[in-house]
Amino acid sequence: MGYKVAVFTGPGTLEVQEPAMPVPTGDMVLVKLLSCALCTLEQRIYKGAMPYYPYAGGHEAAGVVESCGERVTMLSPGDKVTLRLLTSCGQCYYCRSGHENQCVTSFKASNHAGLNGPGGLADYMLVDARQVYKVSPDLDIDCAALAEPLACCVHSVGKGQIGLGDDVVVLGAGIMGMFHVMLAKRKGARVIVCEVDAARLEKAKGLGADVVVNPSECDPVEKVKELTEGRGANVVFCTVALPALAAQAIDMVGKLGRVVMYTSFHPKDPIELNEDRVHYSEIRITGSVNPDMRDFHTAVRLLSLGIIDAEPLISERVPFEKLDYAFEQSIKPGMYRVVVTHGR
Ligand SMILES: [Zn+2]
Ligand SMILES: [Zn+2]
Repeated sequence: MGYKVAVFTGPGTLEVQEPAMPVPTGDMVLVKLLSCALCTLEQRIYKGAMPYYPYAGGHEAAGVVESCGERVTMLSPGDKVTLRLLTSCGQCYYCRSGHENQCVTSFKASNHAGLNGPGGLADYMLVDARQVYKVSPDLDIDCAALAEPLACCVHSVGKGQIGLGDDVVVLGAGIMGMFHVMLAKRKGARVIVCEVDAARLEKAKGLGADVVVNPSECDPVEKVKELTEGRGANVVFCTVALPALAAQAIDMVGKLGRVVMYTSFHPKDPIELNEDRVHYSEIRITGSVNPDMRDFHTAVRLLSLGIIDAEPLISERVPFEKLDYAFEQSIKPGMYRVVVTHGR
């Protein structure tokens, strides 16, 4: 008996292949996948912006353990699990110094024999037990699939070093902005969200934003200064890929503040930096990319314990049989996550 795995063979072209069902031995685990969320990486490959063909996409996946190799001790058949599919080599300088997110081979994965890519768009997968994280049996399986994006935001929020009572600005209220809002709130901050989409601002309020600012109605830098008695924010997270917003993020942070460039930027136009402002204000400008293992562990706990609810960020659930429709939906503006499901 074989299983199904979706492979991008060209822009907008998906092909379902049927490899033979593997049998787990040693440290390997066979997982029956039930859910896979469509992230920006998959959307870019689907649209042809990142032409890595053939590519087995899908790196935000969750399911149930089907069977385990003889050396697997912490997992049993029937366990509800989420997977860390964009793994690290464990051998390079960064992995060995505890920074797997900076691994020299990060983003490369091959979880199906002979296929490049993380491969979460499949109904079964053979993975190393180290990549498998058990979640609470009560957790919705599609929310479990969002452990990976949440883990990315856990990493970012860690970089921001939020203190109790800090003023935190989140630029953008897409899924990543929203996770930042929820996490910053739980860190004890006053959260200010800047976003041009009024519907997203409303949603941000519902998820814990204390103040919402619409930059199409006022100057967001002035507004943040006004809200902070002229000081500027303690922490600013930029989750929108526009260089103009990167500059804005630096302008609205106060003395000793932290600016985290959560997103990568498109286009990659350089911005001007007033070096004296860095000198006199002692601000710190940093980035955040990928979660390390601890961030992933933290994200799984936040979801399993119900501290973070990812349900409001799932826009639509689409069965695997309608993959093309799922991708079309996922790239529409205003969508949060589209989740591809099996057997429902
Ligand atoms: Zn992702
Ligand atoms: Zn490495």
